[in-house]
Amino acid sequence: MRRRAVGFGVAALVAGAGMIVGLATAATAAAACAVDYTANSWATGFTADVKVTNYGAAVGSWTVGWTYAGDQKVTNAWNATVTQSGASVRASNVAWNGSLASGASTSFGFQGTYSGTNAKPTAFTLNGVACGPDVTPTPTSASPTPSSPPTSPTTPPTSPTTPPTSPTTPPTSPTTPPTSPTTPPTSPSNPPANCVPTAVCDGFENQAGTTPGGNWAATYPDCSGAGTAAIDRTVAHSGSTSLRVNGAEGYCNHVFVRNTAILGTTSSVWYVRYWVRHTTALPAAHVAAVAMRDANDGNKDLRFGGQNGALQFNRASDDATLPEQSPAGVALSAPLPVNTWNCVEFKVDGGNGTIETWLNGASVPGLLEDGTPTHDIDSQWLNRTWRPKLTDLRLGWESYGSGADTLWYDDVAVSAMRNGC
Ligand code: CA
Repeated sequence: MRRRAVGFGVAALVAGAGMIVGLATAATAAAACAVDYTANSWATGFTADVKVTNYGAAVGSWTVGWTYAGDQKVTNAWNATVTQSGASVRASNVAWNGSLASGASTSFGFQGTYSGTNAKPTAFTLNGVACGPDVTPTPTSASPTPSSPPTSPTTPPTSPTTPPTSPTTPPTSPTTPPTSPTTPPTSPSNPPANCVPTAVCDGFENQAGTTPGGNWAATYPDCSGAGTAAIDRTVAHSGSTSLRVNGAEGYCNHVFVRNTAILGTTSSVWYVRYWVRHTTALPAAHVAAVAMRDANDGNKDLRFGGQNGALQFNRASDDATLPEQSPAGVALSAPLPVNTWNCVEFKVDGGNGTIETWLNGASVPGLLEDGTPTHDIDSQWLNRTWRPKLTDLRLGWESYGSGADTLWYDDVAVSAMRNGC
């Protein structure tokens, strides 16, 4: 991941996609930091890869700041936590990449939207201190000693003959960090939507028209009524497109949009990640928003939805719930916040029959089935052996009593490793 700072060679290589910020004459004094900002833009959006090199003293945490000249808006990021106020953006380390030795580099990325011109920022700060050009300081470049005169300003800087002092290995973390996309999106119309490299992911950006197509198809098992689903170009978590579900009350008003390709891996571990926003709090009655066919359970569904106002899993074959629907069990789950994008992740392990669930990055204790029966949580689920084999993913809405909702889904990812948000 970490690269040595180099000169025009890399600048020429990446000139088509972006530019190295602040190329300067070799006479420039050593700066405390340097930032490479490389953007890959399409009509209304972009991804950006940012490499920051610390030429100052080692730091245990970092925040990189910049200001956009246009209306760029960062929508989601990987390997950094990004906040934006107006045109001002701050990107801070995540838990595992805060340490940055002197001379070391780290990279992060993000996705954003813009209109007009996607001009790159011209100035950056590291922990509040302005960064300079991306050249490696050496004792000769910053020293006026007569034995080493400065390079002529007409000569481009050359690659340093010695690397910056840095640890021989990049900073490591106690747990495996999420990895970022290492390549730009293959198609400007289909951004990576923050997927780990092995993930199958879909942000609905390749959809044409309003009827879900491609790997997605609306489905109404047994009966159909008022429930509808459509591609929506007015609401999106990233890019410009999402899947909208108008879910009505009553079983036959259900609707799901099914994808059999996104689970088409040979793995028996599925990390499902999607973003969802909805208009109406989860009802007291049982509802499902996600269904997955389980080939090892008579093709009955593993369902994820809600009951008693909180998220829950339900196993259709025997109606077991996770958590148990005691008040104490429900209290260990969580509501699904309305009118905001929520990142939902769950891991289903077919090897040992366990489930873990995260809402907006936090593991939900009431939605953890860890194989050991726990009263109020998973003792009902574990009343029999369960080794799921999931064969499809359906997003939608199904109400078994009362409860209607409008939902938008976006940036769906399935992988054998955790995607993160
Ligand atoms: Ca999208």
